[in-house]
Amino acid sequence: MITTSTRLAEAALSRHQIAAGDYFIGRIECGQTLRLVDLEGNQAADTLFYNAEDPSERYSAMDTLREQGNIYLTSGSVLRSNLNRPMLEIVADTCGRHDTLGGACATESNTVRYDLEKRCMHACRDSWMLAITEHPEYGIQKRDISHNVNFFMNVPVTQDGGLSFADGISAAGKYVEMTAKMDLVVLVSNCPQLNNPCNGYNPTPVELLIWN
Ligand SMILES: [Zn+2]
Repeated sequence: MITTSTRLAEAALSRHQIAAGDYFIGRIECGQTLRLVDLEGNQAADTLFYNAEDPSERYSAMDTLREQGNIYLTSGSVLRSNLNRPMLEIVADTCGRHDTLGGACATESNTVRYDLEKRCMHACRDSWMLAITEHPEYGIQKRDISHNVNFFMNVPVTQDGGLSFADGISAAGKYVEMTAKMDLVVLVSNCPQLNNPCNGYNPTPVELLIWN
């Protein structure tokens, strides 16, 4: 569902631009609002959320989808943890649909899906691993890297239940905004994928804004 926000970018507490192939890791306090902006369109932002006090509690696609009874994320969706507690609620969305079934790209999946020579291409899982290695202060380990949200990514489910990576439904300037229901660590990989249309074959930057 398309819903817009009244929050002004100038009033944001902080703004971060994330280049394609780069990551963002940081804390978001309970009650703060986070916006991701697809600056140039058709970009996927592969995102994980953790309880800031205990990263073994983390975003769960299964709990989220079961509780809302729908496979797509949009305004009104409550992103839930593996303890089935609310982590964030999507409060504005000008894209209309976000995926949480397709998973993140990895060198292994690139090799299986596309070609052996794709093994050396940069992937979201590498960016997450780099983030948690460069920022040990958040206490997130390799075993905490789990299923994720793909903001702005279009993975329609076909009539017979198949998943397909389709051309994006996002466009330049579209955004999704969510309010934290607990103190969180957010980990975003701005996807460098070049083998499928999730980034329109042209990975571009996204912006992240945080409001009190
Ligand atoms: Zn990716």
